[in-house]
Amino acid sequence: MTRFCHVILDRDGVLNYEAPGGYVTDPDQWVWIEGVLDALAKMAQAGLRLSVATNQSCVKRGIIDQQTLETIHDRMRRDAAAKGIFFSGIHFCPHTPDQGCRCRKPEPGLIEEAVQQSGISKNQTVFIGDSQSDLQAGRAAGIATWLVRTGKGKNTEAALKEGMIQGISAENVQIFEDLGQACAALLART
Ligand SMILES: [Mg+2]
Ligand SMILES: [Zn+2]
Repeated sequence: MTRFCHVILDRDGVLNYEAPGGYVTDPDQWVWIEGVLDALAKMAQAGLRLSVATNQSCVKRGIIDQQTLETIHDRMRRDAAAKGIFFSGIHFCPHTPDQGCRCRKPEPGLIEEAVQQSGISKNQTVFIGDSQSDLQAGRAAGIATWLVRTGKGKNTEAALKEGMIQGISAENVQIFEDLGQACAALLART
């Protein structure tokens, strides 16, 4: 079984609860999903490199500016650091779908950027997400991709099992209740 050294995490719905309006627009709206900080701390202690890859089209939509996004990520980094957790990179796509960029998931750009910055090979990397676009981006980037049932995960699982996600078959995706369970599976491999 592959021993993973680098875990790339989607943000909304994996690390934090999705905000009521769809976008976290203020650091005060940041709420960690139960058990996530403990799971991240265990992964950090095990020496796994952690990074984040998140679509934030709210920036180019003009809902928040990039400065505000940075303050939200500062809040996230601060909470994490208090538990000994450090993210080696927080990669975000600010673009809207119609801009046709290569970074917005389901495109592989963000994940490729995270892989490149880490210096850890693709086959020692796993991406964990909750959306269809996460599964597609992970597949396009050619890395192992796991699904969690938090956030949009249950809907994604249903779509996956109905064969509704183009190019991805259910038997190729490992599914976990939440990041805590995914973490336990990761650590069992190391
Ligand atoms: Mg998500
Ligand atoms: Zn982009």
